[in-house]
Amino acid sequence: MTTSLDGRELAAEIRADAAAGAAALTAAGRPPHLAVVTATTDEASAWYVRSIARAAAKVGIACDVDGEETSAGITAALRRLSADLGVHGIILQTPLPGGARLAELAGAIAPGKDVDGANPLSLGRLVAGLPAFTPATAEAVLAMLDHYQVKAAGRRAVVVGRSVVIGKPVAHLLLDRDATVTICHSRTPDLPAITAQAGILVVAAGRPGLIGPAHVAPGTTVIDVGTNATADGGLAGDVDPAVAEVAGALSPVPGGVGPVTTALLLRHVTQAAAATGTAGEA
Ligand code: NAP
Repeated sequence: MTTSLDGRELAAEIRADAAAGAAALTAAGRPPHLAVVTATTDEASAWYVRSIARAAAKVGIACDVDGEETSAGITAALRRLSADLGVHGIILQTPLPGGARLAELAGAIAPGKDVDGANPLSLGRLVAGLPAFTPATAEAVLAMLDHYQVKAAGRRAVVVGRSVVIGKPVAHLLLDRDATVTICHSRTPDLPAITAQAGILVVAAGRPGLIGPAHVAPGTTVIDVGTNATADGGLAGDVDPAVAEVAGALSPVPGGVGPVTTALLLRHVTQAAAATGTAGEA
């Protein structure tokens, strides 16, 4: 019988922590403030930004959304917000105009406000084992494993996807936990032969149904990061639900990694605000 790795209970715990942090900061005259910079008219992204703003409001974090149209506009906004003493966290929403890469523009986010670990400096520090904000989705995967007491040490972990925001940081976090890590991508031949060796399988490809029962060995812990819009307006992961018949544990979509990611982002904002000291310090 597969365990469903529901993320909602863990997300509620993290949100409660963020709310307590936000209340203490507000009482001390330093209300935490998140800024989201977006240049996309993509409906899925717009929905995500609205959901972040709603979630922020619920835990007592102010959230402004700054709409830009060009890379130059985005860079200017990120610099302005980085210098703004009243702003504690900054998120740059993708997709970006003209095919710009996140890492190219996110370098303009002050590292202390880089609450989604998008500045390449943050990823560099993560890989070097130095303190930095970790991309929230990658951190959410590890938080799920911790919450369900899934040990990574000594196990074979396979990550499907090598993006800078999810695949690469997740692989490093698992490596830091002493897993033996393999990263797969779109040019990996015979994917099922590799994924079937995993004790822990993390899938972040953005391809609905990419991973089926034949990709998974019995007993594997499968974390599905994929969030794909379905024709009926719902959300589907990258993992075929039939994998539940084989896997030892499987995170659902929706209700798995997603809510934990949002909660961690909010906690990062309160942590960034707390580290700022007084409202007069950046
Ligand atoms: P991305 O930048 O498009 O990267 C996708 C990765 O998957 C790439 O490395 C790609 O390989 C690999 N890939 C694509 N097709 C593949 C295939 N057939 N076989 C093996 N690998 C394949 O996407 P992302 O930003 O990392 O996001 C991944 C998924 O996570 C998306 O569904 C996204 O919506 C979701 N997401 C979820 C959360 C959450 O909180 N749950 C947050 C953010 C994103 P190449 O490098 O070779 O192209």
